[in-house]
Amino acid sequence: MSETLENLLHETRQFPPPAALAATANVTAAAYEEASADRLAFWERQARRLDWAKEWNQVLDWSNPPFAKWFVGGQLNVAYNCLDRHVAAGRGDKVAIYWEGEPGDTRTITYADLHRMTCQAANALTALGVTAGDRVAIYLPMIPEAVVAMLACARIGATHSVVFGGFSVEALTNRIQDADAKVVITADGGYRRGKAIALKATVDQAVSRCPSVEHVLVVRRTGEEVTWTDKDLWWHETVEQASDQHEAQPFDAEHPLFILYTSGTTAKPKGILHTTGGYLTQVSYTTWAVFDLKPETDVYWCTADIGWVTGHSYIVYGPLSNGATQVMYEGTPDTPHKGRLWELVDKYRVSILYTAPTLIRTLMKWGDDIPAQYDLSSLRLLGSVGEPINPEAWMWYRKHIGHDRCPVVDTWWQTETGAIMISPLPGVTVAKPGSAMAPLPGISADVVDDQGNPVPNGGGGYLVLREPWPSMLRTVWGDDQRYIDTYWSRFPGMYFPGDGAKKDEDGHIWLLGRVDDVMLVSGHNISTTEVESALVSHPAVAEAAVVGATDPTTGQAIVAFTIPRSHVDTSGTAGEALIAELREHVAKTLGPIAKPRQIMLVPELPKTRSGKIMRRLLRDVAENRELGDVTTLQDSTVMDLIAKGMRARKSDED
Ligand code: ATP
Ligand code: MG
Repeated sequence: MSETLENLLHETRQFPPPAALAATANVTAAAYEEASADRLAFWERQARRLDWAKEWNQVLDWSNPPFAKWFVGGQLNVAYNCLDRHVAAGRGDKVAIYWEGEPGDTRTITYADLHRMTCQAANALTALGVTAGDRVAIYLPMIPEAVVAMLACARIGATHSVVFGGFSVEALTNRIQDADAKVVITADGGYRRGKAIALKATVDQAVSRCPSVEHVLVVRRTGEEVTWTDKDLWWHETVEQASDQHEAQPFDAEHPLFILYTSGTTAKPKGILHTTGGYLTQVSYTTWAVFDLKPETDVYWCTADIGWVTGHSYIVYGPLSNGATQVMYEGTPDTPHKGRLWELVDKYRVSILYTAPTLIRTLMKWGDDIPAQYDLSSLRLLGSVGEPINPEAWMWYRKHIGHDRCPVVDTWWQTETGAIMISPLPGVTVAKPGSAMAPLPGISADVVDDQGNPVPNGGGGYLVLREPWPSMLRTVWGDDQRYIDTYWSRFPGMYFPGDGAKKDEDGHIWLLGRVDDVMLVSGHNISTTEVESALVSHPAVAEAAVVGATDPTTGQAIVAFTIPRSHVDTSGTAGEALIAELREHVAKTLGPIAKPRQIMLVPELPKTRSGKIMRRLLRDVAENRELGDVTTLQDSTVMDLIAKGMRARKSDED
């Protein structure tokens, strides 16, 4: 068995930063030198972007690894940094959020408005007995009150635990119980795909099993009928009646800011704990550096849900601590039509767009003609996060959304890292499609082999982080041992995020997917990402997922599930011919070792609610097993469709 990951895909296209952007970029190449000369001094300088009530006396305490303390002794208030200081500086009338509801209702919220709303919510929570250190669960749709609820918790030192509004009773119950939440903030419902989706009934069922919950605050969004319990309070009757005067108190730099449960693609959800000073420092710096954010002129839009870490760091804390103006959208990209995103980019003159590869591939499937109908000339920078972005999806994004003018930044990070770790800098980096390129200044990442030794350029292996970073998770809530075992035990002294990666011939980093998904074919470790990227590079393919299925001759064989683009004919012999062509295409692109044994043309792929492909379920299908747990699937009917197709093909072959 070879010990490292194969490096099969070789990409030669390169895109330097646009000259005008480079000339005025927030960050230049000097940042890398400054950070490598003195990493702690570099982070100390970034911490000064924030207003501290009390200065720290030590940048990093790493005397008890892997338990880090950043900016030891320092004190600050996160909400003060996101709101009060902007208002005090005379920017109260600046728009913080252009909110767009799915049905088309809108709200424009200035920094002064957001400050008042947050003060009211802070006063209301305090009146309900919530004090610093208490946990508050937030289960809301994408409405401004979600941002207000998070900031109000931060303001009074309560630790929020946001639970994605699409999660089930079971998931919500477990998360409330694990965190021992005292208050739940929810809504009657929200809009999705043109329908009002109820939330309150789910909360009622969960709360009946959670004795820790004393009060439930309910925002009225849809106006639909809800049942009422004696723990319930309407937001508009409490928060909106409370005083809008509230003095923010500073908290210790290591005060717990939030718990966020990983989505559970792999095992029992872990409550990832983030704290105050280091977290805000790194999310604030990376928002400014990676997106080249100019708060005076940019309109920024991150399409993530507030229930994911991307929503925490790059809708709430990063943009607001920088005083940015942003768009927030409640609904889905295809409601009421498939041009909704581009309509909004045009309407609000969005200049920075941050989204996920899963959405980009969906847009590719829908067709180039849709974005072509809108004015996207306001855009100047594009970002990607959540999965490896296939080079062809990167090229499509650059061409059809960015019109070859906008740099694309592929940002690698995870719930646990809190903020972006590996990414191009848009004014500095000559980007390669599909590569996250290099660790940001102040971050130390590497790719190592099975023994923990760095792989040479051109080699593949495991991504690791060598040094603690300010926004790192501090532990798994209530389970220090799980924190040590999961992240710090695979390679002594290094953080292991669970992802495979390679260094190309120039030493640039390419993410290759989760190591759990790696396929072992005739003694070669092959990443799912490279085979998927090869498939997506064929003009007939919009999206692909590959898995390793047990094979009598090769150990594992590659089985691919492929979504054709909308214009492609897949009926009868045309479909057979396409499959044969795709197998050859992969063999030609990556070498014969990567040629899929089998390719299925499917209408959809199983995805988590954050849009990531769930290969575990596809492995079950490919190996003819009973399906595993499907509860985190976005759409469980997808698996029936795929399994039926698979059975039909089997009987063809027999
Ligand atoms: P769970 O940990 O419960 O399985 P999750 O890992 O999907 O959930 P996140 O923390 O949101 O939850 O996702 C982080 C993971 O997403 C990373 O570890 C990596 O596998 C993948 N990822 C994120 N951004 C990128 C990127 N730019 N390139 C490649 N992979 C990425
Ligand atoms: Mg993860």
